[in-house]
Amino acid sequence: MPRETQFILSGAEFSYPGSSGKVLSGIDLEIRAGEWVALLGSNGSGKTTLLKILSALLVPTQGSSFISGSSQDDAACGRKAPCAMVFQNPEDQIVASTLEEEVAFGPENLGCPAEEIRRRVTHSLEACGLSGMEKQLVSSLSGGQKQRLALAGALAMQPAAILLDEALSMLDPQSRRAFTEIIASEHAKGRTIVQVTHRIEEIRLAERMLLLKDGKIEFDMPREDFFRMRSEDLAAFGLELPPFEKLCEILRIRGLLPESCAADIGAVETYIYDAFGK
Ligand code: ADP
Repeated sequence: MPRETQFILSGAEFSYPGSSGKVLSGIDLEIRAGEWVALLGSNGSGKTTLLKILSALLVPTQGSSFISGSSQDDAACGRKAPCAMVFQNPEDQIVASTLEEEVAFGPENLGCPAEEIRRRVTHSLEACGLSGMEKQLVSSLSGGQKQRLALAGALAMQPAAILLDEALSMLDPQSRRAFTEIIASEHAKGRTIVQVTHRIEEIRLAERMLLLKDGKIEFDMPREDFFRMRSEDLAAFGLELPPFEKLCEILRIRGLLPESCAADIGAVETYIYDAFGK
């Protein structure tokens, strides 16, 4: 069954007030419900601005944007949240003193009844590994816990889409894995994920890659094609291959791995087993 459209941008351009240059131009983009999309590119290429347009925090200065208002959840609230954003620095979005108040903020604004708010606070804190900490002060949390709290606040809105703006960049490797697992489980439930990053390690689970350069989408490709890109081509987008993908590239250049074999641990293992096993 074809998936419903979540976002459409047509001929979208954006300039910040008081600035003459265009930060985004010629953006034609359709994202369907349930996709996991990575937005990649060098600093200043326009990733955050594009994400803010998808979240309706900004409106294109030219062209049009459509954001579907529906959610897969049967929300027990007055309004549904089309999307919720998690920023790089949790301090930029945390507004309350205790964890409970913080997570309740979104559903309260959606008009949820008290019982539903309590249910969502408990469930979202639990999903983010913060259960039992409802009454604790936000100020007592570590940086990684604050980032998971920001995610819990986003989940409590039960949005159709979760938009992540470098949301993993301040986390240690263990917290990054935990955070990615939560995102993966939300994606498995049908939520759309749009993830801004400049670290390839963070987007191994993304299905579709958009590569931005100077405010334009230069490439829009499935994961398999992206992981066949060469280091020198990725460098133009401020991206560096992680060690495993770099090793696959070296093996391919030396003729030890076929071009057709994706930089995927399962595919490489199968190839090695078939070629050298038994
Ligand atoms: P990225 O997320 O890829 O680093 P951004 O969307 O943050 O890119 O920024 C794109 C361009 O817009 C940059 O040149 C940046 O300096 C500029 N920019 C970002 N925010 C503002 C703002 N509030 N006012 C003016 N210019 C801005």
